[in-house]
Amino acid sequence: MNNSLKQSWLRHARAPLVLALDLLLPPHCMVCDQGVNGQSLLCSNCFRDISFITEPFCQRCGVPFTSAAQAGREALCPACVAVAPVFGRACAPLRYDAAARRLILPFKHADRTELASVLAGQMARVGAGLLDCADVLVPVPVHRARLFRRRYNQAALLARVLSRRSGRPVLPDALRRARGTAPLGGKSAEQRAEELSGAIELRPNRADRIAGRRVLLIDDVMTSGATANTCAAVLLAAGATAVDVLAAARVPDPRLA
Ligand SMILES: [Zn+2]
Ligand SMILES: [Zn+2]
Repeated sequence: MNNSLKQSWLRHARAPLVLALDLLLPPHCMVCDQGVNGQSLLCSNCFRDISFITEPFCQRCGVPFTSAAQAGREALCPACVAVAPVFGRACAPLRYDAAARRLILPFKHADRTELASVLAGQMARVGAGLLDCADVLVPVPVHRARLFRRRYNQAALLARVLSRRSGRPVLPDALRRARGTAPLGGKSAEQRAEELSGAIELRPNRADRIAGRRVLLIDDVMTSGATANTCAAVLLAAGATAVDVLAAARVPDPRLA
């Protein structure tokens, strides 16, 4: 069978195949398992509950503001005004709240790796400009012990899906955790920086793929931005020309609540 014939056969064969699959395995919402119509990934209730981050947000780190007045003249959040991040720009499509947790926690902890395509789709939507100017995608690394427990690095899964969608190459193992770190929640900016100091390093055999390149760092949840900032510092020290950050969800700054 020649190639074009094979493709047209597949095109015609696909519709009945999808129909047959829908009858055998009716599509379900990826969050609550309720039946959905056609190719929808989420039911209307779960979709409605998700908070998408829209303007106004910090132009540097992407943290959402609750009002335009908060944005001030420079449109920077208090954290970015106090200490400018090392990375260029960060953005995320989802506000990390209860609805986003129902999507992200099963992806992180319960082997629901198929959720990567839902999250990466939203990341590609808000991060189109960042993906366009990136030379290479690099995921935030997890420590070996955590990788052993979870069996996969959720940021690397997102980076792989985004790489397939955008055609940008991905270096899943460019960064590694040299040691485990204590949870950063509740720590001051200085304490977070101290905890992360020396915890993330570049794999030496990846250095030539980073030098002179514009890197887009990929993460699942961006909290204070301290981990992204540490990764960006390591990549810049290795000669990256710039580092931006694209995460699936952003934890709002409690000071801006
Ligand atoms: Zn649902
Ligand atoms: Zn900011």
